[in-house]
Formats: sequence, C-alpha cells, structure tokens
Amino acid sequence: MSDGGGEQPQRPAAGAGLQVGRILGVPIVVQPIWFLVVLVIAVSYAPEVRRRVPSIGDGTSYAVSLLFVLLLYGSVLVHEISHVAVAKALGMQVRRVVLQLFGGVSEVVEEQPGKASREYLVAAVGPLTSLLLGGVGLAVEPLFAHGSVARLLAEGFAFANLFVAAFNSLPGLPLDGGRVLRALLWQVTHDKVRGTLVAGWVGRGLAAGLVAVAIVKPAGWGDSTFGALYLVVLAVYMYSSASVAIAQAKVSDVLPRLDIRAMTRRAFPVTAEVPVAEAVRRAREAGARALVVVDGNGKPSGLVSEAAVSALPAQRQPWVSVSDVARPVDTGLVLSTDMDGRALLEAVQVTPATEYLVVDHVGAVCGVLARIDLVAALQAAGLR
Ligand SMILES: [Zn+2]
Repeated sequence: MSDGGGEQPQRPAAGAGLQVGRILGVPIVVQPIWFLVVLVIAVSYAPEVRRRVPSIGDGTSYAVSLLFVLLLYGSVLVHEISHVAVAKALGMQVRRVVLQLFGGVSEVVEEQPGKASREYLVAAVGPLTSLLLGGVGLAVEPLFAHGSVARLLAEGFAFANLFVAAFNSLPGLPLDGGRVLRALLWQVTHDKVRGTLVAGWVGRGLAAGLVAVAIVKPAGWGDSTFGALYLVVLAVYMYSSASVAIAQAKVSDVLPRLDIRAMTRRAFPVTAEVPVAEAVRRAREAGARALVVVDGNGKPSGLVSEAAVSALPAQRQPWVSVSDVARPVDTGLVLSTDMDGRALLEAVQVTPATEYLVVDHVGAVCGVLARIDLVAALQAAGLR
C-alpha cells in the first residue's frame, strides 16, 4: 500500500522477514506476524461465513474464511506488484516487497534527487490497481447464486479492494495518496522537503482521525472491540510512519549544509605509553582538542575517549597511559572528508562511537570528529 522508498538510502522499513519468493526479480518477504494475523482473521471471519451461507458446515466455514483472507492478501500482493512494475518500467530499483500487518510495502530505491513525475506514477498505480480488482469483483458477483460461497467471496473481494483503493487514496503519508500529494506539491513548488512535510502532517491528522473513529464508533459500526483496537493500532502505525517521513525530510534539508571539516577537532598525536596527564598537557599547549594514539611510524592506532579522560580522577592521570583510555581505530571509526552529510550520518549510525578519526582523500589524518559536536551541529540546524 505505502511504498517504503523515495526517502533515499534508508534502512529496510520492515525489519527481518521470511522470503517466500520473487516476482519481477524482486524478493517477496513476509513478516512472521503475518501468519498469525491471517489465522486470527480467518478464525474471526468464520462465523460471518456461516451466517451468510447457512448450509455450510463448521469445518468448511473455516476453510472458506481462510481462502477469503488469502484472496485479500493476494490482492495486496497484486497492488504491490503494480508499484514494482511501474517503478521498474521507469528504471527504478525495488529492494523488496514486504507483506506486513497492514498490507504491503514496496521498498523502492530512488536515486537522488529523484523526479516528482516518477514518484507520482509509482504511487498512483496502487489505488488504481485495487480499484480495478474491486471492479472485477463487482462484475463477477452477479454470476453466482445468492447464498453461495462463490458469491460471498466475490462480494468480500470487491468490498475489500474498493476499501483499499479508497483508504489508500487519502492524501497523507505513508499512504499512496500522501505520496501523490507530495509529488504534486514537489512538482508545483520544486521543493520536495516542503511537499513531504505537508503530506506527513496530513498523515498525522488522518491517524488522529482514525483514533476518533475508533472512539466515536459511528452508526453501523456495531460494538466491535476488535475492530476499534485494529483501528488504533493502524493509527499508531500511520502516525509513526508519517513522523519518520517528516524527520527524514528535515534531515535531507539539513544534510547538504553539514560540513565534516568544520566539525573536525584538531588532533594531537601521542604514542601509546604517554601518561594521560602529559598527553592532555601537550595537546592543550598545541591548541588541539583531541588525542590520537599513533604507533612508531605515526600511523593512528587508537582514539582517546574524552569521556574516559574526564572520568579519570586528576591524581590518577599521571599513572594511566593513553592507550588505556583509547578505542582501537577500526574501519567503522574512520570517516573521510569526502563524505557528504548523508554518508556521514549513515556511517555514525552504523558504528556508534563517541569519537571518529577523520582522514582526507589520501588517508592523511585531519583530526577527530566528536559525536557531541555532530549532535550540536544537528541541533543548531533544528534537528534532534
Ligand atoms: Zn500502495
């Protein structure tokens, strides 16, 4: 329904899952909770099947109910495949399709800066496909006798797909309608960030609306606690997805202005056996705000943790060598001045640390990036 892509190199939206196959070369992944949900819906829909088709036996009613749920998820899969097909036709990559609690997510990988028209087409085809499936359900329904299983399935199939088409057309992220709205605003204002913010806030508003519906329970709703609970869970999912989109938009607004060189502290090189007190004194004298442990050839081997130095009582500092308060320089701790803001943020997320070694394009040491300096820069830019 919603498409995970669009917001550049992002982590898979849905976590781990079970790959059940490939369509158009794209892995189809099912979250384990999906099987549980299929079972719960199948069991809770069986009484309705018995009510609508009185001649049916108990066992058969569960089989029909299960078939109905599988038909629904089959529709969701077709909906997602339509996103995938259009994305691929427009030359975009699709990482995978994930079937999850509330339908599916196609993780479209879009190179930056992307194009509004492509995003529009990829998003719009989803609800159109569901509308088409719903139309097919409506068309075949009269072919079957009243009270027959086939009639019940056709009716349910039509209703579910028309509902998916309508709900997904609502203009808030993470729904397809929200992606269409974002693309339209992006096209008109040439400002993707603003488009994302607007569509994200509409998505948050829709989530609040779902909660209101669950509380008010409008006429015809009945007294379904399960249905109300489902709406609330759906609202939480929508609200958090919209919030992620808003946060990502703010990040992509700020990142181009993030300059790694400007944040890098001058580092003072010391060999491993130098006492902390002496190293700190030399660094201060040299006007450096970071310490890098180097070997005999001047090659960096460790990053002295500022926090570890601060935690060391002053009277102990002459007796502890810098190597005891340093972290070995692993590959994840080396950042390059070539990195743009986005690559920088990804790198620090992959390898969380308090200090990083910054090198230039030929590998020469430029200094140390302290995480607190990065956080301060993000805060100054209105993030975090
Ligand atoms: Zn969709």
